Amino acid sequence: MQTGVCYFPEHWPRERWEADIERMAEAGIEYVRMSEFAWNRMEPEPGEYEFEWLAEAVDLVGDHEMRAVLCTPTATPPKWLVAQYPGIRQERPDGTPLEFGSRRHYCFNSPEYRRESRRIIERLADRFAGNEAVAGWQTDNEFGCHDTVRCYCDDCTSAFRTWLRETYDSVDALNDAWGNAFWSQEYTGFAEVDVPVPTPAEHHPTRLLDYHRFASDSVVEYNRLHADLLREADDEWFVTHNFMGDFEPLDAFDVTEDLDFAAWDSYPTLHTQQAPDTPAPEDAGADLHRAGDPDVTGMNHALYRGVSGGPFWIMENQAGDIRAFPYSAEPDDGMIRLWTHQAAAHGADVVSYFRWRRCQFGQEQYWGALNNYDGSPDRGLEEAAEAAAEFDSLPDLDAPSGDVAILVDYDSMWALHSERHAPDFDYWAHLRTYYRAFRRRGTTVDLVSTSADFDEYAAVVAPSLHLVADDLADRLAAYAEGGGELLLTVRSATKDEHHRLRDELAPGPLADALGARVEQHESLSPGLETRVSYEGETYDYRTWAEWLRPDGGTVVGHHESGAADGEPAIVRNASGDGHLTYVGVWPEDGLADAIVVALLERAGLPVGERLPERVRLTERDGHTWITNFRADAVSIDPDSGSVVLGDTTVPGRDLAVVDGPAHGVSVDIDDEA
Ligand SMILES: [Zn+2]
Repeated sequence: MQTGVCYFPEHWPRERWEADIERMAEAGIEYVRMSEFAWNRMEPEPGEYEFEWLAEAVDLVGDHEMRAVLCTPTATPPKWLVAQYPGIRQERPDGTPLEFGSRRHYCFNSPEYRRESRRIIERLADRFAGNEAVAGWQTDNEFGCHDTVRCYCDDCTSAFRTWLRETYDSVDALNDAWGNAFWSQEYTGFAEVDVPVPTPAEHHPTRLLDYHRFASDSVVEYNRLHADLLREADDEWFVTHNFMGDFEPLDAFDVTEDLDFAAWDSYPTLHTQQAPDTPAPEDAGADLHRAGDPDVTGMNHALYRGVSGGPFWIMENQAGDIRAFPYSAEPDDGMIRLWTHQAAAHGADVVSYFRWRRCQFGQEQYWGALNNYDGSPDRGLEEAAEAAAEFDSLPDLDAPSGDVAILVDYDSMWALHSERHAPDFDYWAHLRTYYRAFRRRGTTVDLVSTSADFDEYAAVVAPSLHLVADDLADRLAAYAEGGGELLLTVRSATKDEHHRLRDELAPGPLADALGARVEQHESLSPGLETRVSYEGETYDYRTWAEWLRPDGGTVVGHHESGAADGEPAIVRNASGDGHLTYVGVWPEDGLADAIVVALLERAGLPVGERLPERVRLTERDGHTWITNFRADAVSIDPDSGSVVLGDTTVPGRDLAVVDGPAHGVSVDIDDEA
C-alpha cells in the first residue's frame, strides 16, 4: 500500500519543479500522476511535438525514487484541433455542439478524433517507451464527466446504426425485439433509426436502452484504442483509467476488460452530498458534511475492487475542501488520513491525492490540495505523510474478498432509470440499502457483474435485477440449487434482455424455483403508510411495494398497510441445497438488517454485532481496519488479534488496525470520551 499525488508541471515555473518533487518524496509519496490535460503543451501547433518539458519532470520524479503515471491527454483537445475539425465536438440531444473552453468536448465516435487521438498517443508513448521512471498510464480522464458519454451528433447516429446492424442483423429482427408494433414505430431499414433526440412523448424504452448500451460501448472502444497503443509501445507499463464512483452511463466492468486494473476518483464529501439516499444538505449535519458517509465511499471502493477483480487504485483522493455543490465544508482534522486508510482497507494498493498544490488559475482554483496556492503545506499534507509512513509499517496485503456478492447490472440500471415510476427509485441507492446492512454487521461484500462465478459466494444478492436473459436466470437457479443463498429484490426478473415484459409474471424464469409470483406492484409517495411484518416483527419500508402469490414458497412477510394489507410481501423457498428469497419491498434500515442477518445465518457465515453508526470494520487479508467516522471515540476489543496500529480506544475521525478477522472485533461507543 502506497501513496501518490497528481501534479501539473505545466502550471508552475520550471525552477519550482525540483523543490516540489523533493517535498513529495519527503512526504512518502511514491507515484506522481502527470500530463492528463497537457495536449497543447505537448503539441502547440499541428505536428510540432514538445515532450522534453514532460521528460524533464519525469526524470526529476525518477531521480527522487518515485515513479510517474502519465496520461493520454485526450480529455482536452486544443483549440487548433477543434478549429481544424469542428465535427469532433459532441452534440447535445437538441443539436447544440459542445464548444471549446472547458474539457471533454469531443465525440467518442468521431473518426477524425480517433485518428488524432491515435497520432498523439503514438508519439507520446514512443517518447517514453523504455523509461524506467514511468510505471504506467491513465487513459484520458474521467470518461463521461459532465454528462458526456451520450452524444447525439451525426457520427454517433451513423455508429449507432452500425451497432444495431451488428446486434440484430436484420431490421425485422430489431422491430421484433423492440416491439415496434407499438405506436407504429416499425422501421424498414437501419438507416431510419436515429439516436434518441427529442420527441413529444417519452422514447421507446428498448430504443433508449440500446442507445445507452451503444454509448457505453463507444467509450469501451475508444478506451481500447488507448490501451492497445500503450501496450504496443511498452508492455511493462500498466494501463488504468480513473472512473468516477457510482456513475450511471458507463459500464465500468466493460471498460476495465481492456485495463490492468481500475482506478477511481474519491471525493467523499462531494459524493455524500450527491447520493440520493443521504439527508439533504440542511439536514446532513457535521458528520456528513465534514467526514462523508462511510458507506457511500465504501460501496464505491467495493465496486472498483469488483471491476478490477482485485486491488484497485484511488487516482484522485480528496485532499481538503473542494468546490463541491452545493456546499463544501472543510473536512475535519484526521479525515484525509482516515479516507486514505479506508481505501486501503477496501483493497486500494495506491491512494493518490488530488492535487499537490492548489492552482492559481482556471476552473479549479477552489479545489483544495495538499499545499495551498502560495506553496505552503495545507491541512492535508501532514496527514498524507502520516498515512504513507503507516502503510510502510504494515505488511503487503492481498485485496479483500467477501463471501457475499451484490450483483451490479448496468443494463438493469439503465432500464429502471428510464422507467423509475418514483422520483426516488435510484438503482445505486437501492443497492446501498443492502450494502449498508451488511457493513453494519462487519461483513465484507464484493460488488460483481452478472458474469461473475456465483459459486465463489455463500450468498448472492441481486437487487432490482430487472432484465434477466434466460441464461442468467439458469445460472442463478443453478446457484441456489447447488447450495447458494440467492436474494432477489423488488422489480427483479420482470423483463427480458430487450426490456420487454416476459410471458410469465415476475420473477419470470425464477418464479418456479421461488415458488411465488409477483401479482401487483405500486410506487409509493412519502407520506403513505408503508408497514410490513417479517418473522413476527413490524418494519417500515419505502418507495416500492409488490404483493406476491405463493405457489409452494413460504410466506415470511406480509403487508400491514395500504391496498396490499394482508398480502404476502416476502417469500422464501428451498431449492435443492440452497434457498431463494424474494423481498417485495424496498426495506428501511431495520428490515434490511433483519433480512441480511437471516441470510448470513442460512449461509453459515458469521454474524457480527450491529456496529455503532458510522463505525465500520473492514478486513483485508487477515488485517481488520476499524474506521471511526463518528466525532466521538469508540472502544474496541480485538479478541484474538492484536492492535498493530492505533489503540483500543479509537478517537473520533480516527482508526485502528488489528491483525485478526473482522468478526472477532467488538466495538462499543466510549461513554468516557
Ligand atoms: Zn457524437
